[in-house]
Amino acid sequence: MRIIAFGAHPDDCELCAGGTVAKWVQAGHAVKFVSMTNGNVGHFAKHGEELAAIRKAEVEACARILGIETQVLDTNDGELEASLAQRQTVIRLIREWQADVVLCHRPNDYHPDHRYTGQLVQDSAVLLMAKFYLPDTEALDRNPVILYYADEFAKPTPFTCSVIVGIDDVISTKRALIDALPSQFAEADSWMGAKMQGLPADPQARAEHIREWLLGRERRIAERFRTELTDRYGAEAASNITFAEAFEQSEYGARLRPEKLDALFPR
Ligand SMILES: [Zn+2]
Repeated sequence: MRIIAFGAHPDDCELCAGGTVAKWVQAGHAVKFVSMTNGNVGHFAKHGEELAAIRKAEVEACARILGIETQVLDTNDGELEASLAQRQTVIRLIREWQADVVLCHRPNDYHPDHRYTGQLVQDSAVLLMAKFYLPDTEALDRNPVILYYADEFAKPTPFTCSVIVGIDDVISTKRALIDALPSQFAEADSWMGAKMQGLPADPQARAEHIREWLLGRERRIAERFRTELTDRYGAEAASNITFAEAFEQSEYGARLRPEKLDALFPR
């Protein structure tokens, strides 16, 4: 399979799907991450080209950890628009990857860059197979499965779990991804490091504190969707799963057939 994941910023794909992607790669599938913006304002001491270069190097380090491809588009952080030009970029990227599975944010989210990333993927879906549209790239011969990352937003509709993946067996990889993104999390002036209260002063302790706090998301997913975990893994195996990632099927992509779930998503 060929999987392409879109995130708004150079950490979103890693955070939202890093565990599942580690399992996909182990199973022999090809994965590409795309960051729709360059992340050039999400820091309290660095910005602009300097920060964009740091962020690109960080996701490239993550790509080496995972064994995948990665690309950062040169749109300024906070300025992504659901424009025709960006939609065409997304269509070309999905086609060039000849994707079977596409991942993105849901289009309801606090951050406009996240929202528009979801919107752009949704708007691309109907044209992926249209061979006379953007004929410079080869149209797909079938619709990919499109899935949204889990989130905790409730309005207008909360996230629905279509598929859940236990990631305890690859949690060390997810920890390594977070550690490879210090300008986002570990540094004192990073996005998280500057915003969180009551952090330890020691740099190593601070990094570990923030990393384990971030993994609270995977813990909450496992708790919130315990029923779905039990359905997929059985009661005993599910009760031993602490960390999970979950995805919601988009009705604009190919249908996620229950009998194909295990082929698409490693357990
Ligand atoms: Zn983001």
